[in-house]
Amino acid sequence: MFENEIIREILNKYRVLWSLSHASSLMGWDSETYMPSEGVKGRSVASAELALLYRKLFLQDVAPLVEKVMGAERLNEYEAGVVRVLGRELERMKKIPEKIQYELAKLRVEASTVWRGAKAEGNFKAFEPYLTRVFELRKETAEYLGYKEHPYDALLDIYEEGLTDRDVDNMFRGLVPSIKRVLERVSQNGYYPRTHELEGVEYVKEELERVNREVLELLSFPWSKGRLDVSAHPFTVGISLWDVRITTRYEGRDFRRSLFSTIHEFGHAIYDMNVDETLAMTPLEGGASLGVHESQSRFWENIVGRSFSFITVLKPILEKHLSVARGYDAEELYRYFNVVRPSTIRVDADEVTYNMHIYLRYKLERGLIGGEIKVSELPELWNEMMEELLGIVPPNLSEGVLQDIHWSITAVGYFPTYTIGNLLSAQLKNALEREVGPLAELIRARRFAEITEFMRRKIHKYGKLYPPKELILKSLGEPMNPEYFARYLEEKYVKVSLL
Ligand code: MG
Repeated sequence: MFENEIIREILNKYRVLWSLSHASSLMGWDSETYMPSEGVKGRSVASAELALLYRKLFLQDVAPLVEKVMGAERLNEYEAGVVRVLGRELERMKKIPEKIQYELAKLRVEASTVWRGAKAEGNFKAFEPYLTRVFELRKETAEYLGYKEHPYDALLDIYEEGLTDRDVDNMFRGLVPSIKRVLERVSQNGYYPRTHELEGVEYVKEELERVNREVLELLSFPWSKGRLDVSAHPFTVGISLWDVRITTRYEGRDFRRSLFSTIHEFGHAIYDMNVDETLAMTPLEGGASLGVHESQSRFWENIVGRSFSFITVLKPILEKHLSVARGYDAEELYRYFNVVRPSTIRVDADEVTYNMHIYLRYKLERGLIGGEIKVSELPELWNEMMEELLGIVPPNLSEGVLQDIHWSITAVGYFPTYTIGNLLSAQLKNALEREVGPLAELIRARRFAEITEFMRRKIHKYGKLYPPKELILKSLGEPMNPEYFARYLEEKYVKVSLL
């Protein structure tokens, strides 16, 4: 697999970097779960020092070897993968001047702190100078990194290798009108409600905890390699192939939020656990991209978790543990899980409206990077687009332009990866059904291991070996195609097929 002498040397040196990441991941997990609040004083220093040490060792020990082997040697697929992944990292370190990288790191901390306060008060003016600086620095970053057609391309590529503005534009072109049509039909036929009484009902946290654990067991979550804990914002962290941890949240009411967060993170975790062991502790460990990773979490959360057939296997678990869910029949639970309601908050959006939120952010950040939009115009443009896309206007800026953390941590070009995840999840459903059988039947028969095995074979095992576009083409026989998702919405929400 890894035979080239220089590649072997690279992998040896890389193991030290991997160990630093291992420690950082564990520290990051701890910060969000069990660290006492004052611990942050030491943790922030330790994390920053480890990040600096990573950079130093990368440039000193790994970079020269990567440059030596690049283009000069005949490499097999795995070796080429290592060089590709490390080469991207090196390119970014070298092309972006240290001064800019330092300022970005500093701004990330400052701007996100200011953003938190501004969001709480709904005060855009307080955040505006920081956001202006974020977009200035990101424009500069794009120029340093270089691009073919649009500066936004350079930023997209940071989060999703090879993704271009043209791809994103293609992705949304058919999708936006099709979502509009589905939304109209949903409100006409009235099957999927706009609200449900269970959204307001309080649950007993300990009861829901038992549900979450039993659902993970149903999905064959390997407890010997994973944990479930609690954090304010659910996340997954891959510490190694044999230690992948997820979190969920308990807000006290509307139990589906906790349940579907758990199932979502399960999708991320099982991906990280299933990467081929021969890639462990190498640069090829982990997921192909943010979009491909999100396809796994969304597949389990929405395509499996919110399906009618899943209710049939979930209901006995709810009956056993969760008193507030008792007395609701399968169809009523299904309607609760699939409430469709244009809402102002992205993270609360349903399957139908979610991608409209991404489209809005895409248009705005692309315009900002392209220089067609000024930061000062954002609040107004945001509200106008919200009205145009979903027919609602946020009641205040906290629920409008200030709602997401992303821009404050200088993540520009990140949002489209969420839509990639949604689109791919439907495409994977189609591929699974062609190869393994109807998903509804697999779910009813509790054949979850077969679903996971399909994903392992098609996606998980490769880790970062191929760039995302190549992986999809290779594994599914065609490029990403938004049609599958549009058809999925049509089937579920317009035809109301209870699958
Ligand atoms: Mg996710």
